[in-house]
Amino acid sequence: MILDELSDIPQNEREVIERSAINKWGENSQMLMVVEECNELSVAICHYMRGRVDFIGILSEISDVLIMIEQLLLIGCASDEELKSQIDYKLRNLKKLLENK
Ligand SMILES: [Mg+2]
Repeated sequence: MILDELSDIPQNEREVIERSAINKWGENSQMLMVVEECNELSVAICHYMRGRVDFIGILSEISDVLIMIEQLLLIGCASDEELKSQIDYKLRNLKKLLENK
């Protein structure tokens, strides 16, 4: 999972916590929370650029987004391999874009 190297909480323990949240509030609610947390990150970045918050405010929202994305992956049952494949594809496209300029 995406947080394996970013959290000291073991993957199986994180999955129990995240599945409990999905079971408690439901898949639709948690998917809406992904949107909400992404918007909070957007606002934090805007506030940082205007000098209203320090970078810790952004880190807090990045953490929220990553936790919600892990839940989104659990809901969607996407495998790590599927995600890695998409990330590699996108990064290769970005590299090509940069090389063409
Ligand atoms: Mg948040």
